[in-house]
Amino acid sequence: MSDYEFLKWETFDDGQIVRISLNRPEQRNAQNRGMLVELDQAFARAEADDNVRVVILAGEGPMFSSGHDIGSKKAREEFSPGPGQHPTAVINGGTREGAEKIMLQEWHYFFQNNLRWRNLRKITIAQVHGDVFSAGLMLIWACDLIVGSEEVRFADVVGTRLGMCGMEYFGHPWEFGPRRTKELMLTGDAIGIEEAYRLGMVSKIFKREELAERTLEFARRIAAVPTMAALLIKESVNQSVDAMGFYNALQSCFSLHQLNHAHWVGVRDDRRAVGDEAHGVPNWRDAPPVVSAVKDKVRADA
Ligand code: ZN
Repeated sequence: MSDYEFLKWETFDDGQIVRISLNRPEQRNAQNRGMLVELDQAFARAEADDNVRVVILAGEGPMFSSGHDIGSKKAREEFSPGPGQHPTAVINGGTREGAEKIMLQEWHYFFQNNLRWRNLRKITIAQVHGDVFSAGLMLIWACDLIVGSEEVRFADVVGTRLGMCGMEYFGHPWEFGPRRTKELMLTGDAIGIEEAYRLGMVSKIFKREELAERTLEFARRIAAVPTMAALLIKESVNQSVDAMGFYNALQSCFSLHQLNHAHWVGVRDDRRAVGDEAHGVPNWRDAPPVVSAVKDKVRADA
């Protein structure tokens, strides 16, 4: 029996390795509030357990994650009064109004969640397949290492589909590079896993059918490193990029993200916090498909 509604929790090698899998395959692992709260609990559980050395973050179904859940029935219920309402909809800013509500809720459930996972006292490996879109990127960027299968594409579509300047955790320039980030955000195009490998974002590319087993072997290799050395290697890198401005840049970009939401609330009659067709943003449900960024084509399928 699973301890989680939206996740799978598995252990290997007498508990030295934990695999947490996003488990909403029919929704392409769209991240609803319940999933994010469970994910925080699962990471904390792995962190508290002295037996655990490596945590793998994976996804069930056709793709790793399509991003935040902004449209499903479940997601709507979580924020509406009634039996389906998630308890966190009425705490941590959930009962406040306007920009304060959005800022506080996103600070707790997107921004601080992600920072906490990035700073987990264990080595974390994201294991990705299919597509990794928008908030899916936030999850994998919080991990220390990323491995994936040959078909994987990475894209942040919130610029072109929601009129937003990226996700709440703006790791983009640190992962894609500054100029590539501008291009990818302005077009919504995807990069393939080979490019992500060349950028240093991805460590290993495995065949789809071997992905889970090879990732486990990779995790075993890392689990053999003494825990103190492993943690201090992680922390030395994290403190270096923090000294380079990573932490402060994340904070200021979170503020810009909130300004972006406030703009849409201000201009829209229905006061929703993302762009709409009346303001030049195509409805994301019938937006053109995500295509790969190709260097000699304006748009790959045009
Ligand atoms: Zn947001």
